[in-house]
Amino acid sequence: MKIFVTGGAGYIGSHVVKLLGEQGHNVLVYDNLSTGHEWAVLAGRLVKGDLSDRQFLRDTLKEYAPDAVMHFAASIQVEESVREPLLYYRNNVINSINLLETLTELKIGYFIYSSTAATYGAPEASPVDEDTPLAPINPYGMTKVMVEAVLRDIAAKGDFRYVALRYFNVAGADREARIGQAYREATHLITRALRTAKGEQEKLLVFGTDYPTVDGTCVRDYIHVEDLASAHLLALMYLREKGASDVMNCGYGHGFSVLDVIRAAKAVTGVDFPVELAGRRPGDPPELVADSSKLKRLTGWSPLYDDLGFIIETAWKWEKKRSAAKD
Ligand code: UDP
Repeated sequence: MKIFVTGGAGYIGSHVVKLLGEQGHNVLVYDNLSTGHEWAVLAGRLVKGDLSDRQFLRDTLKEYAPDAVMHFAASIQVEESVREPLLYYRNNVINSINLLETLTELKIGYFIYSSTAATYGAPEASPVDEDTPLAPINPYGMTKVMVEAVLRDIAAKGDFRYVALRYFNVAGADREARIGQAYREATHLITRALRTAKGEQEKLLVFGTDYPTVDGTCVRDYIHVEDLASAHLLALMYLREKGASDVMNCGYGHGFSVLDVIRAAKAVTGVDFPVELAGRRPGDPPELVADSSKLKRLTGWSPLYDDLGFIIETAWKWEKKRSAAKD
């Protein structure tokens, strides 16, 4: 298939592009390289373009004429979204609408969307299924709720089908350490722990020790980026086989606390890096664990790397190789 991938030079997008290439698909990556990297595109062709440039977007799509689109390009940092909400609404909502308008006009009708567990806010249930009410607690989560609503309404008109995958905590890297997280400023726990082990960061702060969880720290469902990548391909096959538009959670169904992750990171790296207990980070829900039974049932998804130690090992291999100068 010919697949147009926005944000394909970013962390998750680049792992999906790699897999699409391995499976013989033809890929065109459309990325403004604001946080993505040319070196991360291991398959297909890269076009440097911005979703706000509607003319260029339309020309590129028309010429490439893809069978399907996967849309990863977005701003993804919760804290930044609180500081700069308009930037998030413009980049995540308006630019997605630019893309969707163009797809509708060109009659491109298969769409895989990167959504997030942040749409649920701070859910009471654990694990959460897709019927849990959406109640985001930050602008980032709200931008994803808004685009999901737009998708639902477009799909209701016919001729357009989509799967929105609600990602839980994505981590890990390519097993051969060719690609992985390469953000100048890491905010995610595993990446920060490893950068602390590497000496790039002085100490790791634990944000909050008084949550109503097993050990007082937040619990998350960490999923290996390659298992997440395979979910995208399966979701697309599901749509091609006449599956109906839907929203699907993507996680393993069990959680680890911040302290569990720190223990595992110390074991994998062999470094007893400095850790300091700190106050809560605003906007963090105590526990987010996925019920992904719908994804498994409808697409046959069967994850291969449900092992925190393995996830951290792949991230560590990448982190040791990564050069901050190339972020
Ligand atoms: N966290 C932490 N120290 C850090 C980064 C994250 O204690 O330096 C905690 C964070 O408060 C949350 C969990 O680790 O409870 C996972 O955070 P991350 O940013 O990795 O993902 P999120 O769940 O926010 O998407």
